[in-house]
Amino acid sequence: MDTHELDGRRTSSYLCRHEVRYHGRVGVVACADCGCLEFYGARGPLDPAEGVAALFGNFDLVGKVPAIAAPADHVLAYRPPLGKRAALDVLPAGCWLRVHDELWLASDRQVLLLATPNRLMVDNLTRGA
Ligand SMILES: [Zn+2]
Repeated sequence: MDTHELDGRRTSSYLCRHEVRYHGRVGVVACADCGCLEFYGARGPLDPAEGVAALFGNFDLVGKVPAIAAPADHVLAYRPPLGKRAALDVLPAGCWLRVHDELWLASDRQVLLLATPNRLMVDNLTRGA
């Protein structure tokens, strides 16, 4: 089947199921199959960076971790505050999802990982932590 790979790639974006999962008032579509990541607020689609801040803004910075199998050089780990781990359940575990050009996120159900190639971004993300 020479066409199998091509067909798989072409069809994957509409064969995978995209359901919105809600945490509080923030809805998330996060798909491990096609890498889709979208955020929704009460008034419609949210800017992805806003969505990340709304869902995970209260997480505590743990520190930098080695960028193993990460899409960018700088990887930061964040721990949910007590009782807030459910925010991570809106994400598929163990895969990187692109937030925007310079930010990816991943979850292993225990911590949130943010990856960026941009040092300035790291400084912004760690400021106030
Ligand atoms: Zn998908």
